[in-house]
Amino acid sequence: MALQSAKMFKRIIYGITVACICAAAVFTPSKTVRHEFPVFRVMLDPGHGGVALPDRCRNGDRYCAVTRTYLQDFREGASFRGIEEHALVYEIASKAYDILLDCGENGDFSKFYPVLERFTDVSYDRVYIQCHMSRSDSRHRNEIIRRKDPNDEFRIYDYPDDRGVMRPGRLSYINARRPQIVVSLHAAGKGAAYFMGMNPVIVPPFDFLHSGLLDLQGEKQGRSYFFSSPYRDWFDESSRRTGYQWFLNDVMLYFTGYPLKASGDADLDNFRGYRYNMVTWPYRDHIGWERWARTHPDNSPYAASAKKFVLAGKYWVREKSVYEKYKRDGGLEGFGGDNYYASAEIIRYILYSLGINNLYHADQRLGKPYISVWTMPLFVNAINAFIELGYLARPRFRYLLTSRQDEIAQGVAVGVYSLCAGIVPKQAPIRDRPKGKKIDLIKYSMPNKGSYFDLAPIP
Ligand SMILES: [Zn+2]
Repeated sequence: MALQSAKMFKRIIYGITVACICAAAVFTPSKTVRHEFPVFRVMLDPGHGGVALPDRCRNGDRYCAVTRTYLQDFREGASFRGIEEHALVYEIASKAYDILLDCGENGDFSKFYPVLERFTDVSYDRVYIQCHMSRSDSRHRNEIIRRKDPNDEFRIYDYPDDRGVMRPGRLSYINARRPQIVVSLHAAGKGAAYFMGMNPVIVPPFDFLHSGLLDLQGEKQGRSYFFSSPYRDWFDESSRRTGYQWFLNDVMLYFTGYPLKASGDADLDNFRGYRYNMVTWPYRDHIGWERWARTHPDNSPYAASAKKFVLAGKYWVREKSVYEKYKRDGGLEGFGGDNYYASAEIIRYILYSLGINNLYHADQRLGKPYISVWTMPLFVNAINAFIELGYLARPRFRYLLTSRQDEIAQGVAVGVYSLCAGIVPKQAPIRDRPKGKKIDLIKYSMPNKGSYFDLAPIP
């Protein structure tokens, strides 16, 4: 439906609402029509929360059913001179949430309309956005530390409570709400000049990672599959290894759960677990898998060596599916799929929002994507817009993230709306102007099963 002005918009909405209610009254007297517009489910996911306390056995994350322990210390996020990532991203996500509430079925769209009007003056479709937050406030650290389990709701992966009953971590919580889009917001401490800006955080498609496995197995001729790929700019954990070596390390982790030593051998003392079995969803291995996995037998999906690893199980069927390919390959950015587009597009809307408020700076640009086997985009079925909003060590980003949260939040909210409905951004003297195209979600429909976002098992 096309709309031109606020007045006309209100009149049309009123007319359609009346028409829908009348139609409902005439044809289905016992029911009222609730969905005048398409409904999109969106999860806002501010990173981290919780506290990095010393005792990993009690306070860690990444609970492994094989070793029955947490495999990593809790990650509470970056901080710089007392400014904390978890607090900033929570504040920005909350503001975006408040704006998007007015796009919901029970919201007051007349409050969202003036925000949208600053970005576009061309007709657009009306949609409902049903918005959730993936976690609560974690800014009152003293309160959180006094809790019986300070990190409970903030954990990424499922975890046992004090009686040993498994509880859903944040990934399971998100998947259970079946969002089409998850917007993960983070900020880094420092960053290389090469990446300066606001960065999408993406995972490559399965085929690329599988080529890495064949390479580790000695089945690959040459390395051009890596060096000629758009995914070759691999995330370096440190300068002690090349990007290609870090890629092989992460390929090994992704398939076998073991990292590689600098020598290239499997690091058998540093097991990192089977992440897809740390989430409550239909792609876990069958009940009892952990007994089989305990000895890491050769010629199984739990082998500790790349050469003896066998691809088997529902998770790997999902990884090879066309739906994951849509999320992670090709698409409107040329590579990186809908995840890359969604991340880059929301960043462009944030930059646009800063620009129309006369906030310009050389650091404010769409930076290069960080590419690795990141958890959030790998273990949610939703399209994941994963964004590093900036670097706390840079004065410009400290200013924006502490003092311009409203402008950033408006960019996030309008970006989300545009990904769902599509809007045409007004002409403005801004370098990275949004494309304004909605994501084609129809391609995620599954035969007789609703959509991929409903967490339907892959046939
Ligand atoms: Zn972070």
